[in-house]
Amino acid sequence: MDPFTAMFATGAFHATGPRPDPAARKAADKALTRTEELELRLQRALLVMEAMWSLVREKTDLSDEDLTDRMLELDAADGHVDGRVRRKPTICERCERPTSRRLPRCFYCSHPIAMDPFG
Ligand SMILES: [Zn+2]
Repeated sequence: MDPFTAMFATGAFHATGPRPDPAARKAADKALTRTEELELRLQRALLVMEAMWSLVREKTDLSDEDLTDRMLELDAADGHVDGRVRRKPTICERCERPTSRRLPRCFYCSHPIAMDPFG
């Protein structure tokens, strides 16, 4: 925990001011806990990806350059080289409205949608 967060969490930050609203403090503590949980999960996912990549590199003739070339190719596929892949919504076959591929069914009419595994 960084010093600023520690001061806030212990109440030292508010020592000379009004007492924080207990509900606000509880919500802040919950958000901090959730953020820490997400950070741990992200670190774990990055570790798994690195382990998988090191295995692929060892067992094949692929190189780090091949990986970075593919990353740039995927990044650029949406028209923006910005370090992420933006997924466009798909059009529902039944109602013809745009809907997310992250959902198993159309948001509007519940028609089944072919999900994108990387949604
Ligand atoms: Zn629909």
